[in-house]
Amino acid sequence: MGFFAMWDPLYWVVMLATLILSGGASMMVKGAFNRYSKVRASSGVTGAEAAQVMLNKAGISDVQIQRVSGFLSDHYDPRAKVVRLSPEVHDGRSLASLGVACHEVGHAIQHAKKYTPLVWRNAVVPMAGFGSNIGFVLIIISMLLGGASNFFGTSVGLLGLGLFGTIFLFQVINLPVEFDASFRAKRMLPQLGLISGPSEASGVAKVLNAAAMTYVAGAVAALLNLLYWAHRLGLLGGRR
Ligand SMILES: [Zn+2]
Repeated sequence: MGFFAMWDPLYWVVMLATLILSGGASMMVKGAFNRYSKVRASSGVTGAEAAQVMLNKAGISDVQIQRVSGFLSDHYDPRAKVVRLSPEVHDGRSLASLGVACHEVGHAIQHAKKYTPLVWRNAVVPMAGFGSNIGFVLIIISMLLGGASNFFGTSVGLLGLGLFGTIFLFQVINLPVEFDASFRAKRMLPQLGLISGPSEASGVAKVLNAAAMTYVAGAVAALLNLLYWAHRLGLLGGRR
């Protein structure tokens, strides 16, 4: 009955699709970032300076800006209330640096304003980590029980898929959070005079839109995995 996933050709199709999606998206981000990290913004400010201006404008005074090592390691840490920027973003004066720095400030503003999708996302994070592992174990147990062919297999399988599906849920809730952070950056950069003119705005947009594609790819990959396991358990109808 082809018990283990690795003996199923469809498993490899799903894995390959996941790899192509995430690899392609991350290549796009790196490409866009590298291209626009060579285009200097006419304002001449660094990413860290732009981030500070945007925080000030939003009336946020309790968020620090720090420099961290790594390439594209930029993030906002809501627990420490710190915007951490990679060296190239922190010190760079390029459209890419300003775009990424202000995207991270976008998350700090969401946090300060208790932006609803962010609150939901933070609530799902612990479930997505812990729950998805337990979910996967339950999926395997369901397969041992015969999957959708009997009541116990079906019950355990549905519970497992529900828990495993929290990864997909996280990825979906993450989309408005990421799009909104980029939207805030794209809107405030010209408003604050940190970039000017349509060509600078379009450079920033290209970097941030490419970054957004990695989150879309993540959500699609999570959905493919969820559907694959639902199919393997026979819960989608099909054979078995
Ligand atoms: Zn983000």
